[in-house]
Amino acid sequence: MLDRTSRDLEGHLLVHITEAPTDRQFAYIDGAPDQSATGFFDAINPANGEVIAQVAKSDAADVDRAVQAATRAQHEWFGWEPGRRVKVLLAWADLVESHHAKLAEIDTRNMGRTIRDSLGDGAASARLIRYWSGQVDRMTGTQVPGNAGHLSYTTREPLGVIGVIMPWNGPVGSFCSRVAPALACGNAVVVKPSEMSPLSALVLARLGAEAGFPAGLVNVVTGGGEVGAAVAEHPGIGGITFTGSVPTGRSIARAAADTFKKSVLELGGKSPNIVFEDADLETAGRAAVWGIFNNAGQVCVAGTRLLVQRSIASDFVEALRQRAARVRVGDPMDPNNHVGPLASQQQFDRVQSYLKIARDEGAQILHGGGTPPGTDPNGLFVEPTVLTDVDPSMRVAQEEIFGPVLSILVFDDEDQAVELANNVEFGLSANIWTRDLGRMHRMSQLVQAGTIWGNTMRMYGPGLWFGGIKSSGVGSAYAEGAIDGSTRLRRTTIRFDEAVPTPSWNDLDDDQQTR
Ligand code: NAD
Repeated sequence: MLDRTSRDLEGHLLVHITEAPTDRQFAYIDGAPDQSATGFFDAINPANGEVIAQVAKSDAADVDRAVQAATRAQHEWFGWEPGRRVKVLLAWADLVESHHAKLAEIDTRNMGRTIRDSLGDGAASARLIRYWSGQVDRMTGTQVPGNAGHLSYTTREPLGVIGVIMPWNGPVGSFCSRVAPALACGNAVVVKPSEMSPLSALVLARLGAEAGFPAGLVNVVTGGGEVGAAVAEHPGIGGITFTGSVPTGRSIARAAADTFKKSVLELGGKSPNIVFEDADLETAGRAAVWGIFNNAGQVCVAGTRLLVQRSIASDFVEALRQRAARVRVGDPMDPNNHVGPLASQQQFDRVQSYLKIARDEGAQILHGGGTPPGTDPNGLFVEPTVLTDVDPSMRVAQEEIFGPVLSILVFDDEDQAVELANNVEFGLSANIWTRDLGRMHRMSQLVQAGTIWGNTMRMYGPGLWFGGIKSSGVGSAYAEGAIDGSTRLRRTTIRFDEAVPTPSWNDLDDDQQTR
């Protein structure tokens, strides 16, 4: 799929990706495509059902070879002069940026997110890698006072090899945001992208090799949950960063416990989007539509539950219905479209089953619920769907659908808004819309979520912490959370003053003399 290289006018290395739609794609182990695979699975374009590549099914032996290669590479990488590591990470950032259009196209064809959304990933990822390159020189510990005549200090060191297990809903961004901090903290990685969107990970690993990573620093094994499980269970892996569903997160946490690995778990959500009567209703209304239907609702922090104050509910919901009707659903490669298909047949079936559950439970479909007109019959398209008459106990109000389905609930006051917001097992994020500063702070303290956005949505930045509470996760793959998840501390204490006694039995030598 890759590989002619040239240089642009500024001398940056460019890797040319040549299209070969039904190419065989191999896992990337020890700096090269691993051509030993015997089994393959299809990568399917969900917009039209076409097979775009056949991808190797890795097995436990492949994972083991990847871990061994990563172990060797990590020793080399962490032994390098820090400046050399920075230079190579920055070169990788440049390559990710210069390939952003191709990477975006690969993700869009592989998992259906619209090209207008995928195109932003390369630049954001390059920015993130550059941010993390600064961490190479900031692996700081602390000097700890305490014992006279002694010097005590902590040093921060890499975990060694980190397993990165990824979902499919934002492949380039997920890869770079997890791999960059791990590498910057001195680790090597074995990445297991989702079986539904593995293609861009293979390109990103090869761009890393072009940038100068030692062979084996970034390995990509491909396949389903069993390959992820082999990564999570491997004793040679020191830490896991997992992003995905709650059930898989539980199983990874158990595997990590058995082998005493550090683990960061970024899991699902059922985020409330809470709109008070005093909010900027135009902005909140536009955000509510984007926040649930962007990426066909396949976003962990999607605003899946609209909590709207009763006094404005009917006007706000009617405006929202009109906006939802204007969302253009169709070919994700068409830059005019807002929303593409769902990523896989499995995800499509899941969303259809929740639409049936909604009807069976007595919710009303205010908008959508069917197939968008004019879309490819072989594509996995679902109309943006708005549900009313939703009771908080209904499954559509409690469970993560991960599709373009919005549940609307009405509240009277702050207390009831908090109660509804917290009445789910998740605690990933919450959006609060109000112009009352006191109310904003009260709500942001009482709503149970790891990340709160006030009068905005999904604002991220390389230095901003992000993570969930309750069933939405443990730890964070961002900012200081990523450093903690990628490193461990070592404490050293050195007695520098010989006049200070060391711990011992002072009378032991006296005993010897008396015998
Ligand atoms: P998933 O849990 O089905 O799969 C995620 C990854 O885990 C895949 O690579 C899969 O192959 C692997 N896997 C499956 N079973 C495994 C096992 N037993 N051991 C190890 N690995 C295994 O999730 P998904 O459907 O790919 O992604 C959607 C989920 O991800 C949603 O719940 C969404 O909210 C969540 N998500 C969370 C965040 C966040 O930052 N909190 C971001 C994106 C997605």
